[in-house]
Amino acid sequence: MIKEQYRNIILLSFFGLVCIYMFKLPSFIVIIMMGIVAIYFAIQEEKERTALGKAENMRLHNQIQNVTFQADIRQEQLATLISNLPMPLILLDNKGEVLLYNDGFAEFRDSKEKRRLTYVNNDFVKPVYRFIFDATLFEREIRKTIVVDEKEYEAYSEPLFKNNQFSGCVIVFQDITKIKKQEALQKRFLDDASHELKTPISAIKGMVEILNREGFNDEEIRKDFLEQIENENNRLERIVSDLLQLSRLSSDQLVMKREACDATKIIDASIASLSYKANKKGLAFHTDYRSNEPIFVDPAQLQIVMNNLISNAISYSDTGTISLSTFHEGDSYVIEVKDEGRGISQEEQDRIFERFYRTDTDRSRSSGGSGLGLSIVKSVLDAHQAQLVVKSEIHKGSTFQIWIRN
Ligand code: ADP
Repeated sequence: MIKEQYRNIILLSFFGLVCIYMFKLPSFIVIIMMGIVAIYFAIQEEKERTALGKAENMRLHNQIQNVTFQADIRQEQLATLISNLPMPLILLDNKGEVLLYNDGFAEFRDSKEKRRLTYVNNDFVKPVYRFIFDATLFEREIRKTIVVDEKEYEAYSEPLFKNNQFSGCVIVFQDITKIKKQEALQKRFLDDASHELKTPISAIKGMVEILNREGFNDEEIRKDFLEQIENENNRLERIVSDLLQLSRLSSDQLVMKREACDATKIIDASIASLSYKANKKGLAFHTDYRSNEPIFVDPAQLQIVMNNLISNAISYSDTGTISLSTFHEGDSYVIEVKDEGRGISQEEQDRIFERFYRTDTDRSRSSGGSGLGLSIVKSVLDAHQAQLVVKSEIHKGSTFQIWIRN
C-alpha cells in the first residue's frame, strides 16, 4: 500500500514537470490539475480501504455468530442433560435462592402451584427444606439420608466458591430405596439361613450329648434319637443343597442350557423318583398328558422344578390323588400339578415364594422341607420367562401351573 502511494506521487510529479516544461502550461494550472488527480487517488484508496474493512467486519460478525450459535447449542445440551437426569438436582445461590432445578426435583415441591420455586416461600417438602437450610448455612460438603414419601434419598450438597467466597451450592438426591430394600432382604436372608442351619445343628448336638452321657442305656430313646438325628441331618443336607442351588441361580454366570425336550418325560422321571415317598403316605398319581409337543427349556432345571412341585404335593397332602397334566392354551404350553391336600390360604399364597417362608412351620419341618423349594422354582421359571400360577383352597387342595411360551 505504501509503495503504491510513492508510485502515485512520483507519477504525479513527473506528469506535472512534463506539463510545465513540454506543454508550457502555467504552473498554477498544473498544480490545480495535480491536486484534482491526487484527490481522485485518495478517494479511490479510501473506497478500497472501506471495502476491505467491510469484508473484515463481515468475517468477524460471522465468527461471533458462529461462537454464539455453538454456545447456544452447548447451553441447550446442558439444559437437556440436567432436565433429563433421573436424579433430582437443584442449584442455589449463597442465600439459598433457587437458580436452577431439573424435572426430577419437581416431586420435592410442596406447593403444586405453578409459581417460581423459591426458598423464601418454603416451597419444598420439609426434609428437603431442612437439608437446603443446612447446606447453605454450613457452606461445606454435606451428605445425609432423607425420606420423602416413603422413598429414601441420599442427599449430597457440593458448595461452590467464587474468589474464595461461598457463592451457592449444587444439591443432588439419589433414590436409594431399592438398594436399602435389597440390603434388608439380604440381611433377612442371612438371618433366616443361619437360624435354619443352627436349629438342626443344636438339636443334633443336644441328642448326641444325651446319648454320650455316662450310664445312658435306654434302648428305646437311643433308637428314637438316632432316627431324629438322621432326619435332622437330612434336613441340613437339603438346606445346604437348596442354598447352593439358589446361589447358582442368582449368579450372573448361570447359563440356561435350553434344548427341545418332552416335558412329559421329565414329569415321569420325577414321579419315578418320588413314588416311594407317595406310596408311604398312600397317595396315588394320575397323569393326563394332552400334549407332548417339544418345549425349549433347560431339562435339568425343569427336572428340579417338577421334583419340588411334586414333592410339595406329596408333603402337604394326607389323602387323595396327585394329578399331573400337560396341555396347550393359546401360544403357551402348560404343565399342571394338582393335589387334594390341605391347601394354602389366600394371604399365604403371596408369601410362599419368599425364601424360608413356610405356612405351617412345624408341619413343614416334619416334612423335612427347607422353605426354599418354591423360591428355587420361581427363580428357574423367571430365567425361562415362564409364569407360575397358584390356585388353592384350604382343605381342598392346590394347583400349580407352569405357563411356558412356545
Ligand atoms: P418347603 O421346603 O417348606 O416345602 P417350599 O418353598 O417348597 O418350602 O414351600 C413353602 C411353603 O409353601 C411350604 O412350607 C408349605 O407351607 C407351602 N406349600 C407349598 N406347596 C404346597 C402345597 N402343594 N400344598 C400346601 N402347601 C404348600
